Amino acid sequence: MPNKIKILVLFGTRPEAIKLAPVIYELKKRHDFEPCVVSSSQHTDLLAPFLKIFDIEPDHDLRVMTENQTPNAVCAKILQGLDEILAREKPGCVLVQGDTTTAFAGAFAAFNRKIPVGHVEAGLRSGNLQSPFPEEMNRRLISLAARFHFAATKRNRENLLSEKAIEKDVYLTGNTVVDALEYISNNSVQSEKINSLIRKTEGFKRILLTTHRRESFGAAMSRNLKDLRDFVRRHEDVCLFFPVHPNPNVRRVCVDILKSEERVYLLEPLDYVDFIGIMKNAWLIVSDSGGVQEEAPSLGRPVLILRENTERPEAIETGIAKLVGTDSLTEMLEENYTDESWIDSVKSIENPFGDGNAAKRIVEILGKEVHPEAQKIHLATETQTAHKALK
Ligand code: UDP
Repeated sequence: MPNKIKILVLFGTRPEAIKLAPVIYELKKRHDFEPCVVSSSQHTDLLAPFLKIFDIEPDHDLRVMTENQTPNAVCAKILQGLDEILAREKPGCVLVQGDTTTAFAGAFAAFNRKIPVGHVEAGLRSGNLQSPFPEEMNRRLISLAARFHFAATKRNRENLLSEKAIEKDVYLTGNTVVDALEYISNNSVQSEKINSLIRKTEGFKRILLTTHRRESFGAAMSRNLKDLRDFVRRHEDVCLFFPVHPNPNVRRVCVDILKSEERVYLLEPLDYVDFIGIMKNAWLIVSDSGGVQEEAPSLGRPVLILRENTERPEAIETGIAKLVGTDSLTEMLEENYTDESWIDSVKSIENPFGDGNAAKRIVEILGKEVHPEAQKIHLATETQTAHKALK
């Protein structure tokens, strides 16, 4: 049997681990591929529970994170660290996901070594390079470096084609987050801590809040937290769950505004099983997260998006989400408290982001496409070696 082709899968943050786990799972099932898992550990503490839940053990850990470093420093460390791994492991393809500095650096490092790059969740565009920052730039640069674009939705595919991506290299696969969500819903049980919190708040309108994006820091975050605090104070049947991101920009404001408030539960970041458990039981989700917008339709829970724009307009079009933008969060909360018709209307919605089979499709495509590509690389390497030998 010929040697297996290595597919290097790179991640560094919580959402990347969640969204690449189903791809790693599918790769492991194949006889012709061998996943080589690399973590940059861009999110050190946040990552560990997710790797455990999905039973992933990285083959290499770049351990790039130190306190207060710039995206440039992270990028430089990944380029250097990964380059050595690429030279040693000789993968037939490198898979990156989304739009983080890890994903960009991985795609660029592979491109420089002429290794084909597969981009999972390709083609998201906000149309504004400053928001989300630097993610919108990262995604565009990854699209330039990628050989295989795995688009979650038709719109994502069209975005890529309008930027002159080669049509046959753009595949409509759905988003792997739906696969991850289904896997977790079918195979895991939430912790007793979360179960008891749910029991304790039975009969309350539970709001689940997540906010940690760079664009939300500062005045915007303070305003949003105050609006939510005052809303909870005004209504005795409302409570707030807030898993607080470790970023000091979030922690500081959160403690100032929400500490010791009645019916406000400040939690450490939750593992995926517990987070999904709370999402399912939420009356309303308020969030600036991208992944949460993609998961909400599967769970039938409404989302107020704490952003100026969204690169996931499908969430708004299906009705599961509304953009807060420059509108008043207080007004939106009060409106939905008085009239719950929107909240009731989203209980059963088809998920526009995927059907739970995205990872299978991606790995099938790699099965068809990567073999000839890998051969070309190995042939090129052999030719170079032969030339050197002749000199
Ligand atoms: N999430 C989680 N625990 C938490 C908060 C979020 O498991 O305490 C999950 C959530 O379900 C989603 C992902 O983390 O899949 C979102 O991550 P994040 O908001 O960091 O990134 P984004 O989606 O905005 O890129």
